[in-house]
Amino acid sequence: MTHPMPFDAHDIPPQSSVRAARHDLLTHISDFLIRHDLDITGTNLSLVCAALSGSNRQLAQEFAARETSREPIDQRWINTMTRLDPGTHDRIAELEKLMDKLEYSLLRFAQTAKSAQDESSQHRGAIGRQIKEIQSGSVAHSEGMRVERVIELSASMLERLEQVEKAMDRSESETQQLRSSLAQARHEADVDHLTRLPNRRAFERRLKSASDEARANDVPLCIAFCDVDNFKQVNDRHGHDAGDRILCAIANTLNAIANDECFIARHGGEEFVLLFYGLTKQEAWHKLDKVRGMMASKQLLNRETGKPFGKITFSGGVAEVTEDSDPRSALARADAALYEAKKAGRNTIVAH
Ligand code: GH3
Ligand code: MG
Ligand code: MG
Repeated sequence: MTHPMPFDAHDIPPQSSVRAARHDLLTHISDFLIRHDLDITGTNLSLVCAALSGSNRQLAQEFAARETSREPIDQRWINTMTRLDPGTHDRIAELEKLMDKLEYSLLRFAQTAKSAQDESSQHRGAIGRQIKEIQSGSVAHSEGMRVERVIELSASMLERLEQVEKAMDRSESETQQLRSSLAQARHEADVDHLTRLPNRRAFERRLKSASDEARANDVPLCIAFCDVDNFKQVNDRHGHDAGDRILCAIANTLNAIANDECFIARHGGEEFVLLFYGLTKQEAWHKLDKVRGMMASKQLLNRETGKPFGKITFSGGVAEVTEDSDPRSALARADAALYEAKKAGRNTIVAH
């Protein structure tokens, strides 16, 4: 006697292939750690596992992009990845979905408006023909019947026109509302939720367009990476919420120099990135060093406890974007300059 199968045997991968997949993943993880000379720590293992297994889509994409761009995958970059805002990806995916929906609705409204317009022009044509017929007297009717027919036609036309007008008004106001929701959604997708500065996604787009423009106009374009010094200590001493407030204060200080020739974004964690349009490396260095000095001269106070945070500083690395045909290589050069600034004792800006 044969036993009924509770499910199709084809649905279950054989044990040996599950084992082979696990073995492959482990091999990939260890190859990756060795290839990039990374320490075998719990944090590194869990991050690399999440990226290489694909269980974290955002991380998987970041790892793939980093490998493709050939920028260094070192402990500093890995540390930045451990601090990626886990909600960002979902938030952006959600907003993108909303944008698609809104764009579809706009299309539908445009179609409604078009068909309403067609209908009203058909009506106009029909009424015109009727009036002409009556005027020419081509249809044999009594005087009373003719007037009655014109009134009847005009009344129905008026009624229809009113309906169309109302539908158009409704469409127009709904379209307006959708347009502003769409603009808001687009804006939100490009903004960092903590500091309200443009986020990494906005920066990536800006870097691309700014470097194309700088190359076309043969003007300089500089990039700077800034990283808060010893921020882990600040969090450890004062707590994460206080750390968040400090990040906002730093964002505000940096943002004070944002204008037509300077774009600022939060790159992630305690790192900020700046683009200086039309400024040479020396000029960009100068500008950033001034902000560094301003920040270092402030005494921030923890308003929850009334205790001073002490001196909060950041280090920065500056590079010229148009020195290389690939704008992403400037990121690596700015990052290397930042690394030098850290090695030189922090609270310093280095230009490469
Ligand atoms: P360094 O001068 O070498 O940059 O030292 P660091 O302590 O700043 O660098 P490290 O990479 O060791 O630590 C960065 C810390 O920044 C750890 C992490 O918890 C904190 N951090 C990153 N993002 C945020 C955030 O959004 N809010 C808070 N409060 N802390 C954050
Ligand atoms: Mg950092
Ligand atoms: Mg830091």
